[in-house]
Amino acid sequence: MEEEKDKFDIESVTFMVEELRRSFAEGKTRSYEWRIAQIKLLLKLVDEHESDIIEGLSKDLSKPEFESFISEISLIKASCKLVLKELKHWMKPEKAKTSLTTSPSSAEIVSEPLGVVLIISAWNYPFLLSLDPVIGAIAAGNAVVLKPSEISPSTSTVLARLVSKYLDTTAIRVVEGAVYETTVLLEQRWDKIFYTGNGKVGRIVMAAAVKHLTPVVLELGGKSPVVIDSNVNLDVVAKRIITGKWGLNNGQACIAADYVITTKSFAPKVVDALKITLEKFYGKDPLQSKDLSRIVNSNHFARLTKLLDEDKVFDKIVHGGQQDEKCLYIAPTILLDVPQDSLIMNEEIFGPLLPIITVDKIEESFDLINSKSKPLAAYLFTKDKKLEKEFVKIISAGGLVINDIYLHITLPSIPFGGVGDSGMGSYHGKFSFNAFSHKKPVLYRSFAGEASARYPPYTPQKKRLLKALLNGGIISIILALIGWPRT
Ligand code: NAD
Repeated sequence: MEEEKDKFDIESVTFMVEELRRSFAEGKTRSYEWRIAQIKLLLKLVDEHESDIIEGLSKDLSKPEFESFISEISLIKASCKLVLKELKHWMKPEKAKTSLTTSPSSAEIVSEPLGVVLIISAWNYPFLLSLDPVIGAIAAGNAVVLKPSEISPSTSTVLARLVSKYLDTTAIRVVEGAVYETTVLLEQRWDKIFYTGNGKVGRIVMAAAVKHLTPVVLELGGKSPVVIDSNVNLDVVAKRIITGKWGLNNGQACIAADYVITTKSFAPKVVDALKITLEKFYGKDPLQSKDLSRIVNSNHFARLTKLLDEDKVFDKIVHGGQQDEKCLYIAPTILLDVPQDSLIMNEEIFGPLLPIITVDKIEESFDLINSKSKPLAAYLFTKDKKLEKEFVKIISAGGLVINDIYLHITLPSIPFGGVGDSGMGSYHGKFSFNAFSHKKPVLYRSFAGEASARYPPYTPQKKRLLKALLNGGIISIILALIGWPRT
């Protein structure tokens, strides 16, 4: 380990970044052809090594094969294909309006790559969260260093091996490692840092970025609430919540349902519907189900069992609670009416536990959500259009979904990111391209269109004309031009 650290020092990292800077400065990453070639190679990498990726995810998280495919591999393929289809269009300068002040002129917004960017990713979707921002960085014409999470070491190794085999390593690199390696990387000057993970480390990343005035995207987490009104089709709601909680990496997902809010009178029906559907999906002994991921490691297992073991929470379990420490499994667990001051209601759960909070009237849920940090996602199940409208207006979250869970993440046409404590900046689809581009405005003028009023000495008539121009009224401009009223 010490030897490893010696090899990975500031000097070697500086050397690597300088090499990437040279590639960027030579302009190789800027061309449309290079970007497209790298994305095609990335697609080839995924196609030719799907089984290695699935194996890595299985070793790291016991992620079921089908889940690995739909929630990691297929999304990366879709992102690559979208870039191949749209990049030419995204790269085109956007025409912008000009004004009388600049006339005659034309203007446009040019998307310019930022330079050499650092991407630090998290363990829960280690393939998707690593490569999706990399696709955006390449599409935008940057050189890039990816630092996958050490908590998912098998996927990290697969990424390092395959990226160096398929992609242009003079501009795209993977650095494996943990806190020490990330700290060394953060010492460097980057043109953008894109970080996915918890808010505590997000603050470390932002503090490091300050030194070089580096812009950051922080993709963080939070407690994503689910509000259930009593007018819903409970069978559908139960299926969607279960898929958006336990079906997402056994709750270890940033946009998984963190807790439910419903009315006191409706809560027993919600609990019953969840219990029945959980059994249908994962059987009588969910610890044996092949469709549930395990807890990532013993630290996270201990963190989750601590949430359950708290005195004020223990007797609130109404379903599940079974644990297998050796295999790192915790059964889907539902808790009813846990106190607001419990640990489970004050930190992101990020696991298979689902507390249900009750209120007298469903509208009270809005104040409850807004009394906490802004979540990454918020969900509402209702048939009441008025309630839906209020929810959209009042609830501030990274993203909202009405009558479903998590599906917004699959849409490349809308940005994905947090707000407040759940992060800053966004990506997906063209928003990924934008996240790694500088939007450079360019104004084109010719030598025509000289207006003497622009230059001193400023006579009263020139002043009137300039004021009229700046105030924008066409009649006052004409009057100023003809010098009326005379002073
Ligand atoms: P993690 O432990 O994998 O850490 C994330 C990255 O930070 C890793 O690459 C790790 O090496 C690095 N890191 C850890 N400690 C560091 C330190 N002291 N200094 C510098 N770098 C350090 O992942 P995590 O934080 O446990 O991830 C879970 C969190 O991420 C949850 O809060 C979840 O909601 C959030 N998350 C958000 C998104 C999103 O898209 N918004 C996606 C996934 C996870």
